[in-house]
Amino acid sequence: MPFWKKKKTNSPENPGRDMLLGIATGDALGVPVEFKSRTEMEVFPVSGMTGYGSHNQPPGTWSDDSSLTFCLAEELIKAYDLHAIGQSFRQWYYQGHWTAHGSAFDIGNTTFDALERLSVQGVAPELAGGFSEFNNGNGSLMRILPLAFHTINLPVEERYARAKEVSSITHGHFRSVMSCFLYLEFAHELIKGAGAKEAHNTLIKTAKGFFSGKDYDYQELSRFDRVLDGQFAKESKSSIRGSGYVIHSLEASIWCLLNSGDFKGAVLKAVNLGEDTDTTGAITGGLAGLLYGYEDIPEDWLTVLARKDDIMSLGDQLSERYHLQQ
Ligand SMILES: [Mg+2]
Repeated sequence: MPFWKKKKTNSPENPGRDMLLGIATGDALGVPVEFKSRTEMEVFPVSGMTGYGSHNQPPGTWSDDSSLTFCLAEELIKAYDLHAIGQSFRQWYYQGHWTAHGSAFDIGNTTFDALERLSVQGVAPELAGGFSEFNNGNGSLMRILPLAFHTINLPVEERYARAKEVSSITHGHFRSVMSCFLYLEFAHELIKGAGAKEAHNTLIKTAKGFFSGKDYDYQELSRFDRVLDGQFAKESKSSIRGSGYVIHSLEASIWCLLNSGDFKGAVLKAVNLGEDTDTTGAITGGLAGLLYGYEDIPEDWLTVLARKDDIMSLGDQLSERYHLQQ
């Protein structure tokens, strides 16, 4: 039985679509209000798809988060090839591959530096990313989710190794890598049909088992204590940040899933945290899509989504590719 046959939602068992449409919708909701503070968002909360604003883009325009996700999905459908993934990221930025309207309009500094390094022949893609503590923006977390289909049935050590390799194309620091790994572990459970609370409980168990016996830096590891606490859902909204820092994004996405009852509620909660709204929206939207199914995404949001048909087709191919591997 394919792993997603156990899914409990009304979705026609197409987790590729669920994931990709969820990411693009969450991203597009946040694009017009990127950089707005929590205070501003509380006065003028986002309640639906709007346009223009921060990047002067029409409604339904998604950004780098979705573009790089689509590049990764497209490459994984062909093969697991880090070099090809890195070159696809370059094609996005320099040639407009998988952009909403033909050209890239946003890129993070760490990602930009990595794409430049990837132009040098002989640079191993998994060594192209930034490795410093200051390279812990959410730039690899925001594009990592399609890897969940590739890793879902692998042993945990291999799941971590793949998360590390794919994150490190742009973001190689332990904190970014571990954030990607934990986010993917949560996603695996949703794909298998778990609810948010159940997925969180399993994540905590898996992480604790994985950490035991490893000599990871205690201080680094302790940064994940909060998200790996069974009471994390009860943290106050005021303690959850929507900034571009990878730990904030990981926490925000899981917290929004644990504190909402449908797709709309989860992504609006994420975007209205303020700051890096498109990325928090995308990271949360991917998980919310997997949990609720793409049919739960409001129709009027999907209607204006840029390149909706292309995204659905890519989602179909992703589902089919990993269906065949079962
Ligand atoms: Mg963006």
